[in-house]
Amino acid sequence: NARAAEPYVRLYDHAADPHRPERLSLMGDLKIAIEQDALELAYQPKLEPQTGRVVGAEALVRWTHPRRGFVPPDSFIPLAEETGAIRHLTRWGLRRALRQSAAWAAAGHDLRMSVNLSVRDLGDAALPDRIDALLAETGLTADRLMLEITESAIMGEPEAAIAMLRRLADRGVELSIDDFGVGQSSFAYLRRLPVREIKIDRSFVKALDETAQDQAIVRSIIELGHNLGYKVTAEGVENAGSLNLLAEMGCDLAQGYYIARPLMPGAFADFLASHAAGE
Ligand code: C2E
Ligand code: CA
Ligand code: CA
Ligand code: CA
Repeated sequence: NARAAEPYVRLYDHAADPHRPERLSLMGDLKIAIEQDALELAYQPKLEPQTGRVVGAEALVRWTHPRRGFVPPDSFIPLAEETGAIRHLTRWGLRRALRQSAAWAAAGHDLRMSVNLSVRDLGDAALPDRIDALLAETGLTADRLMLEITESAIMGEPEAAIAMLRRLADRGVELSIDDFGVGQSSFAYLRRLPVREIKIDRSFVKALDETAQDQAIVRSIIELGHNLGYKVTAEGVENAGSLNLLAEMGCDLAQGYYIARPLMPGAFADFLASHAAGE
């Protein structure tokens, strides 16, 4: 009978989700944190495995909640995507990251800045103008900015995504396909995009030094990427053995805890200084 079924149905009722009030309050707090400029960006260096040269950084958001403490991005980014708050977060992140990039440039460090975009950003028609304004404000050329986007984000609504990504690429902003190898592979779409970089998902990289199968996969992705004219970055490099293998395989860039964790601006500057000193 229908009555007896009701509690069961309720389990799946979004409005009755027991975590909903908590999630809503977290999103309210995120909105406030964005408005009050209370979030931070950490920067993880990207380096050439063959030369050891640091050529870029990925900006990763950090949120210390006044009561809950550190909230990992994997837990609030999906929520922010659901509620649409991600657009505000992305705009905040772009401004913060480009200002940081301009500060590095003024200090003589010519680094490309990578910023993550989410699927909802691809529907933000005002984003290209926003980026133009930020580039003008910071005096950076468009090729100093790289936007990372996952295949699954593109595949949600591929035609709209491609139109948006082309508008961004037309300005000279570079595009990177993030988490490459774990989404639906979509070369039919990728070849319609002026992609500069593919980023091998860290699941293939973290045990690279001890897993023959991962070595075969990574080697193949590097070759495929190069044949298509892309630069290839490996993320999640956690030990010297993996970094050496990537150098051998001709991987263009590497990123991971073995090289450096995501660093706050002061620690990033120290890293650059010690690195330039040949450490
Ligand atoms: P992602 O874009 O794939 O970022 C890489 C994640 O791997 C980061 O986690 C980074 O700290 C972590 N990582 C880096 N090196 C290593 C390593 O050697 N080993 C391991 N195990 N992990 C490593 P994080 O900062 O917690 O971010 C998680 C995800 O949250 C990101 O994955 C990205 O999807 C999202 N995210 C972070 N910041 C932003 C942002 O500002 N905007 C958007 N849209 N998404 C963001
Ligand atoms: Ca990324
Ligand atoms: Ca990634
Ligand atoms: Ca990811």
